[in-house]
Amino acid sequence: MRKPVIAIDGFSSTGKSSISKVIAQKLGLIHLDTGALYRGITLFAIQNCMDQGTLNMPLLFRSLAGIDLGFRLENEELVLYLNGVNVSEDIRQPEISDQVSLIAKQPEVREFLLDTQRNMAAAGGVIMDGRDIGTVVLPDADYKFFLTASVDERTERRYLELKHLGIATDKLSVKENLINRDKTDSERKVAPLKKADDAVVIDNTELNKNETIDLILSFIKEF
Ligand code: C5P
Repeated sequence: MRKPVIAIDGFSSTGKSSISKVIAQKLGLIHLDTGALYRGITLFAIQNCMDQGTLNMPLLFRSLAGIDLGFRLENEELVLYLNGVNVSEDIRQPEISDQVSLIAKQPEVREFLLDTQRNMAAAGGVIMDGRDIGTVVLPDADYKFFLTASVDERTERRYLELKHLGIATDKLSVKENLINRDKTDSERKVAPLKKADDAVVIDNTELNKNETIDLILSFIKEF
């Protein structure tokens, strides 16, 4: 029987990826973190398309077709490779977080990643998290959820996550980054961050990770 396709969208640091990962394990689905793809393109741009301290967008657009970006399964984990290099850790650096929304709002970049994402979901059995999955990438998904939480709670979570990864930062910078990214992501012209009309909204300010997972699972019927 065909396994479901689940779309998880929402604001930054609402736990979309870590929650999706657990749900994927529980339901035997593949988890695809689409934010990692945008972060991968951003890393490429910073490494290859800088012009006197600013991003040369036309150069990035010309380079897109030659970029080899995708996930590989290693020790039961999907690991992001950019042109043959494992970049899973590099894409979490604050420098990438600061630039990623600027790159993600470029229609050329979104177009480039659209097919990649749809191809990954074509066989079904996926849970994909991002900003425009329920609205644009997989509008026919079987289940759609939109996660939100207070900005202070999200700041605390992202701060602890970065600390755990050994990345030096402070709470104010983390908070500013979240606010700026959410604003740019929500206001962009192409595929903005927004709730799909048929998505279930989950505010997990007062819920921990397991409670959020249980709530989402309570909507998923047997398949
Ligand atoms: O999910 P994560 O916080 O890693 O995403 C990083 C950035 O990638 C977002 O702030 C957004 O600019 C972009 N993104 C997007 N569309 C998606 C997933 C991520 O524009 N589907």
